[in-house]
Amino acid sequence: MKVQCKNCLPKEGIEVPDFTQSEKTRLLKMKRESTIKTIKCLIDDYKLSHLESKYIALHMNEDYGKCNRCNYNELDQEYLNCPKCGALNLNWQIGGN
Ligand SMILES: [Zn+2]
Ligand SMILES: [Zn+2]
Repeated sequence: MKVQCKNCLPKEGIEVPDFTQSEKTRLLKMKRESTIKTIKCLIDDYKLSHLESKYIALHMNEDYGKCNRCNYNELDQEYLNCPKCGALNLNWQIGGN
């Protein structure tokens, strides 16, 4: 699906692959360890460009519901722009959250 963030380039946004639940779980656990590692994994395993991989990794929420840019913590959809600051959030819900 296509996502956009008013704070980030490219302005037109990027296409995010349809990750399965197990892929989301794997990527999110990785991101909690290391953003760099996540970017590398997206490039190697999903054949995404460096720009796309970085864009995805930087917008993934480490804590479900909590905006990755401000202190808003009531995000309730998987892909949404924060109602408070407008930042894009890849707000995946994974098991054990
Ligand atoms: Zn952004
Ligand atoms: Zn926010």
